[in-house]
Amino acid sequence: MSNALFDLAGRTALVTGSTRGLGHSFAEGLAEAGAAIVLNGRDPASVSAAAAALRDKGHSVYEAAFDVTDEAGVEAAFGALDAQGIAIDILVNNAGIQLRKPIVDLSLAEWQKVIDTNLTSAFLVGRETARRMIARGQGGKIVNIGSLTSDLARATVAPYTAAKGGIKLLTKAMTAEWAEQGITVNAIGPGYMITEMTQPLVDTPSFDNWVKQRTPARRWGRPADLVGTVVYLASPASDFVNGQIIYVDGGIMAVL
Ligand code: NDP
Repeated sequence: MSNALFDLAGRTALVTGSTRGLGHSFAEGLAEAGAAIVLNGRDPASVSAAAAALRDKGHSVYEAAFDVTDEAGVEAAFGALDAQGIAIDILVNNAGIQLRKPIVDLSLAEWQKVIDTNLTSAFLVGRETARRMIARGQGGKIVNIGSLTSDLARATVAPYTAAKGGIKLLTKAMTAEWAEQGITVNAIGPGYMITEMTQPLVDTPSFDNWVKQRTPARRWGRPADLVGTVVYLASPASDFVNGQIIYVDGGIMAVL
């Protein structure tokens, strides 16, 4: 990309949950804008396979397999990055899971796992990242992945909705604490996107029809639909944009 406003050359971006789906597309888009990438997922073999795919395209990639819900694991992973001299300039808190179940059928363990993976993860990885960004004194960019459920509820996804609502205000809380250090923290709220997470919904004709009828764009989103917004929020073009959530959803938030 030639426009300096969107040039990420010399930056290093950690994208959590980047072995597949939206996270992998974000990693590829940030790499195409010039950033070196730190790929993440729970399984080292999956991280290596995803890293190899990006290296085949000529990108600079480091591997950091860790579970974003495990405090000790997150701290150890950042310690390992420190030891390799890798400093994170851009963090995309993307790792997430969804569980579709009515509230009355949910166990506490199920509730906790969804909250931990979608919300507590952004605190844990954001904290380690910001501690280092503040110590370096060069600012930084954090992008938290929310959802249309950051702002409204849908049935059968209560912990996911609570977590994504939390992402919206955690984004603002981080902005309140870190803006003075030159760190911007913004969120993206994707609409209905086709990935492994949503494939069972795509394959359910009633749900598929509902999405296509209710989304003004009349289609599901694709990972590539989000990449420009991630690159924008990771780039100098957004240096005075802070604490915002941007919905990238084919217009569904305008009408739901
Ligand atoms: P996928 O299921 O396709 O990918 C999820 C990614 O997260 C994988 O790389 C997975 O890696 C990783 N992951 C899951 N749990 C952990 C964990 N505990 N530690 C580290 N990595 C983890 O999901 P999507 O790409 O669809 O979703 C990405 C994000 O976008 C999520 O936050 C999701 O909530 C959000 N989103 C998605 C929407 C959609 O329509 N798809 C809509 C709105 C928001 P691995 O399994 O290898 O560990």
